[in-house]
This record gives sequence, structure tokens and C-alpha cells, in this order.
Amino acid sequence: MARTQEIADGIYVIATDDYRLNTGLILGADKAMVIDTGAGPRQGAEIFRAARKITDLPFVVVNTHAHYDHFFGNAVFAADGTTDFWAHPNAERAMERYADRQRGYVETLEPEMAHHQGPNTDIIPPTRLLPGDGGRASFTRVDLGDRAVTLFYLGLGHTDNDVLAGVDEVLFTGDIVEQGADPAFDDSFPEVWVQTLATVAGLDRYHVFVPGHGTPVERTFVQRQSETMREAIDRIAASTSNPEAGPTTAAMYKLPYDAGVTRILLDRLAYLEEKGMMGEDLSVEDTPTGVTGPITTGEHA
Ligand SMILES: [Zn+2]
Repeated sequence: MARTQEIADGIYVIATDDYRLNTGLILGADKAMVIDTGAGPRQGAEIFRAARKITDLPFVVVNTHAHYDHFFGNAVFAADGTTDFWAHPNAERAMERYADRQRGYVETLEPEMAHHQGPNTDIIPPTRLLPGDGGRASFTRVDLGDRAVTLFYLGLGHTDNDVLAGVDEVLFTGDIVEQGADPAFDDSFPEVWVQTLATVAGLDRYHVFVPGHGTPVERTFVQRQSETMREAIDRIAASTSNPEAGPTTAAMYKLPYDAGVTRILLDRLAYLEEKGMMGEDLSVEDTPTGVTGPITTGEHA
């Protein structure tokens, strides 16, 4: 059952049970923006119906990044006539290459999507792209009529294609911010993510931060997530540079994340180091072929 909450004037969060996903809904005079569409036609339709209870306006869709739970519901909106699907250029690339391989993740909750059978199971890639190649921060404004939403790309983080959407005092952060669970490091760039989170926390005009999953949070939560991540990375670095302490196990006991997440973070840092992609100054310009990770490529699907 979708739960819809108006968190500011004409700005809603539609929360659905699967993946504890948050969808944003922003009303303008002429159009309404929908931020993230769910993991397939079932969740997509649930989100669509909840949004249609609020407004009859034509929809503009934003996908915050190229993970299945955020864009597999696009076809439901395309069937309603939506033609504008916004995302980052790196998300377009990731969806082109890997979206079909991600279908295996939704076998249980969205069997039609998993098998590409039945209505609204096509992959709908972005039709509108943020400027830039991901090498640096970029933004664009999407006019909804008497109100515009700013779409930001602030740098590498949870993935190489995270888009945030800001309007009035509300910022929809996608999975850059994670509430109620540890951050998902599988496809991430942890050292740069720390910086990106600090940048998000420093965006003074926003006061409500809506994560991709969980409940809306305040600025201090975002700041704390950045600091916790910094601390985790530093502890891993310290333990791996000390040959006395069995590198990974020692770190795992002291880290702020649970064991499974810690393992993923360790693996990801090791992978990036092997690729020569460590450091805070890393940009996507260093990764022309796209160094994404196992969620995007469907490795665990
Ligand atoms: Zn994600």
C-alpha cells in the first residue's frame, strides 16, 4: 500500500513497501515531476495510482540512478504518455549496457519484469539528460510551470550517475543518502562519496532531505553519514597499513557498519585500488569506460 505524505506545499513523498522506496512528486502549474518509478509494473502502477490521486497533470519522470528499483517502473508512465525521462548521461550508458541483466533481481516481487512478459515490462531509457559527462558537477532546471526543479549531479557517490532534485526547501537525494540501513557501497566511490555528502549537507537552502529509501532526514543526518563514512575508510586504511593486524578482520570489528556491508566496502575499496582509482580527486573523466559495480552490471541478479 502506497503512503503519500505532503512534506511541503505541493511536494509529496510516495512511500511504497518494496525496497522501502521513496518516490517524489512535485506539482507545478503545467506538469508534475515524479522522482523514481519502482522496480517493475506492479510497484510502478502502485506509485502511478498514488500520484494520480493527487494530480491529473502530465508527468515528467526523473530516475535518480541506474539501479532497477529506481527505473524499472518507467514503462507504466510511458504508457500514460510520459515522454520526458530525466537521468544522468552515465545512467543512460549503464541502462543501455546492463538494464536487462538487472531483471533477475526482481524475480520475486516483479516476476513479469524479471521475465520481460506482459504489459509495461520494457526498459524505458532516459530521453532527457543532465549536461556534462560526469567529470564534474552539473545541473539543469526543469520548468513545471510557475515552479522549477533543479536537477543536480554533484560527483561520484553511491554510483557514477546519482541525480538529486531540489525544489523550495526540499532535496530528493536518491541513494546518496540512506536512512534506516547502511549505505550501499557495491557500485560506489567511497572516498568521493564522503565529499559529495559533505557538499549535500552544505546546500543551505534545503532543509528537508528525502533519501531514496527510509524516512526524510535533516542536514545533521547527512553530515553524520559523511563523517561515519570517512571514519570507516580511515580505519580500513589504518588496519591495512598495519601488517600486525590481520587487515580485514581487525577493521571489521571496529567499523560502524554491519559485517555484510563492511565486507562490501572492503571489496569495493580493494577493487578501486586495483584499478588505480583511489583518492578524493577521482572523477569520472578517469573512468571513460565506466567503472561501475556488481549491482548495476547485474552480477548478483
Ligand atoms: Zn541504488
